[in-house]
Amino acid sequence: MRTVAVHGATLFEGKTGAISTPIYQSATFRHPGLYETTGFDYSRAINPTRSELEKTIAILEHGKYGLAFATGMGAISSVIKLFNPGDHLIVSEDLYGGTYRLFNEYYAKYGFSFSWIDTSDISRVEASLKPETRAIFIETPSNPMMKVTDICRCAELIHKRGGLLITDNTFLSPYFQNPLDLGSDLVVHSGTKYLAGHNDTLAGFVVHSRDDLAETMINSQKSEGASLAPFDSWLTLRGIKTLPIRMERHEKNARSIAAWLRKHKQVEKVFYTGFEDHPQYGLSRSQARGFGGMVSFYLKDKADVPRLLKNISLILFAESLGGVETLLTYPLVQTHGAIPEAMRLSAGVNDRLMRLSVGIEETEDLIADLDSAFRKSI
Ligand SMILES: *Cc1c(COP(=O)(O)O)cnc(C)c1O
Repeated sequence: MRTVAVHGATLFEGKTGAISTPIYQSATFRHPGLYETTGFDYSRAINPTRSELEKTIAILEHGKYGLAFATGMGAISSVIKLFNPGDHLIVSEDLYGGTYRLFNEYYAKYGFSFSWIDTSDISRVEASLKPETRAIFIETPSNPMMKVTDICRCAELIHKRGGLLITDNTFLSPYFQNPLDLGSDLVVHSGTKYLAGHNDTLAGFVVHSRDDLAETMINSQKSEGASLAPFDSWLTLRGIKTLPIRMERHEKNARSIAAWLRKHKQVEKVFYTGFEDHPQYGLSRSQARGFGGMVSFYLKDKADVPRLLKNISLILFAESLGGVETLLTYPLVQTHGAIPEAMRLSAGVNDRLMRLSVGIEETEDLIADLDSAFRKSI
């Protein structure tokens, strides 16, 4: 994994010896003659820089086919189009708010139906299956409550009916988890997060090994026009080179900060999959190689929300995750603002919940910043 991350899929540039994959900033490609092609015709369909990235992500996720999109939502949009009006999908109830909006506000009107449930409870997944269920879509660990869903069991349940398991693997990245190895049919990513890793570009991925879906997925990428641009492909390739060392560092920092928060008198509860008393700790250990860099927590007092958000100075109050900088998010109004109140509350996203994407800075500096933010007045 470390080697593939650094070297990519192909040692690309034979002619010049360039070590960094060239950015083929070309919309179109010249044909050598009638009915002849270099393999590259038009960049919406295929571009050499993007191809290198697509091959690299396929290797990292242990898949056969990789597709790169302009954003994570672009990737998820292309996957949902595999289904037809009348199809039913079971979806993790606490997941990225944008996915909720896409499914519920756009696809519900095309005759798709969704059951939003706590997929970490496998008996609820089983109970939600209907004759028309065609897929289970999970985020594990979930966003922002850090619930862990059993990938193998979900795969078994849906495969019995010939449906698909789709896993959003953004939170752990392929460095810590490979859902395709556990029976997931498709993996999606917001490449914007850990894969690109520097809060400087947006990207999305679909990875799979299903020959029967390969042409449909490629045609959908080509036809919808949400394919990743050459420069953004290059930025993401560059980010991926350091994915392994960043993930290790994110996790080390997250572990220390989660433990520190847990002892803090203004904090009611901390959600971190790396705690041995996390309800699905054993499951995490069995299906992932690490716990990642995401930590959520409930404050005891709602008044501490503006206090923290105003007083942090090294840690940045911003939406998103997975970059080298530590970000503090208020899911209620940011990432999960699109989710209706009743559903948000039942998933646990209340007005005292904060989410930290722990970066790779010095651990002590991050803790000192939180500590002083808690002490200062508003
Ligand atoms: C950010 C995010 C998305 C959406 O990705 P974009 O690149 O912002 O379009 C999807 N899933 C998860 C888990 C995310 O965190």
